[in-house]
Amino acid sequence: MNWDDTASDTTQGQPGAPGERLVAPSADREDQAVEAALRPKDLAEFVGQERVREQLSLVLRAARQRGASADHVLLSGAPGLGKTTLSMIIAAEMNAPIRITSGPAIQHAGDLAAILSSLTEGEVLFLDEIHRMSRPAEEMLYMAMEDFRVDVIVGKGPGATAIPLELPPFTLVGATTRAGLLPPPLRDRFGFTAHMEFYAPAELERVLHRSARLLDVPLEAEGAAEIAGRSRGTPRIANRLLRRVRDFAQVKADGVITKEVAARALDIYEVDARGLDRLDRAVLEALLKLFGGGPVGLSTLAVAVGEESETVEEVAEPFLVREGLLARTPRGRIATPAAWAHLGLAAPQRGLFGQP
Ligand code: ADP
Repeated sequence: MNWDDTASDTTQGQPGAPGERLVAPSADREDQAVEAALRPKDLAEFVGQERVREQLSLVLRAARQRGASADHVLLSGAPGLGKTTLSMIIAAEMNAPIRITSGPAIQHAGDLAAILSSLTEGEVLFLDEIHRMSRPAEEMLYMAMEDFRVDVIVGKGPGATAIPLELPPFTLVGATTRAGLLPPPLRDRFGFTAHMEFYAPAELERVLHRSARLLDVPLEAEGAAEIAGRSRGTPRIANRLLRRVRDFAQVKADGVITKEVAARALDIYEVDARGLDRLDRAVLEALLKLFGGGPVGLSTLAVAVGEESETVEEVAEPFLVREGLLARTPRGRIATPAAWAHLGLAAPQRGLFGQP
C-alpha cells in the first residue's frame, strides 16, 4: 500500500488561518453542516462533564417539578466543548423550544428587545458569546432576566419615552469562553453557572465511538485512542479528525479505522501525536533550534516563523502553554523539558528550564 501519495492533496491546516486549521476549536462551515447530526440529544447521551451534568440534571428536574421555567444558566469554557449542545439539551429536557443567537449579532438594544418580545413561555434563549454583546443590550438584559420585563424606548432625544413590556418567563442560557469578562451584575443574574473542562482522552474515545456509530464508520478501539490523543481535549476537534481519518481509511485502506490508519492519516494532515499542528510545531522548533529554548521575545519568535505576533500569541501559544511545552515569562518565551522531549531533541544542560 502506498501511504504517501496523498500528501499533495492536503490543503488543510494553513498556519495563521485559525478557521482553516484542522485543530481549530471553532466551527468551520463543514462542522456546522454535520454537527447537528452528531449532537447528543439528552443529558444521558452527553459524554463527560459529570459534575455539570449532575448539577444541571437537578436544576432541570426541580424546575419541571415546580412546573416553572428553569433558572438562567451560564456556561463557560473553550469553544467546541459542548456549550451549544448543552443548551439544546436543556431545551429538550424542559420540553421547550429554543432560540439561538449570539452577542455579536445583538448590536443594538432594539435587536434584543425584538428577540425577547417574541419569546414564548418557557422558551430557552441561547446567547452565545454573551460577553460580546453591546452595553445597552446588556443593560436591557439585566431587567429581562430579573423581572421578565423590558423598557422599549420610543422616540429620540428629550421626547423619548420608555414603554414597559412584560415578557413571558424564559430561560436564558448564556455561553462564554471567558466568564471573567462578564460584568458582575450580569454574572450574578444567572441562577446556575457551570464551567466546562477539556475532556480526558477516555471521554473523547467515547465521543468518537458514538460519532463513528452515527456516521457508520468502523472504528477500532485503538484507532479511537489514536484520534483522541490528538484532539486537544475537544469533542469538536475529535469529530473533525474522525471525518478526515474516515476519508483516508476509505481511499487508502479498507475503510476500517485502525490505530495505524488513524496515525498515518493524521501524520499526513500534520496533526502530531499530541495534537500539535504545523504552526504549533514551527513555533516550538524555532524556539528550540534557533533560540536554544529561549528566553526569546514574542516578536522575534514570530518573525522567525514568518507569522504575525498576534497569530503566534493567540493561535499557537495557548495550546502549547496548556500542554506544558512553552512558558511565558517576563524575560520571554521559554521551552520546557517536555518540549525538547516532544521534538526528540536533547535539552542543553544549563539548568534554565522548568523554572517559572
Ligand atoms: P460549543 O458550543 O462549546 O462551541 P458545541 O456544543 O457546538 O460546542 O459542540 C461541538 C461538537 O462537539 C458538536 O458536534 C457535539 O456533537 C460535539 N460534542 C460536544 N460536547 C460533547 C459531549 N459531551 N458528548 C458528545 N459530543 C459532544
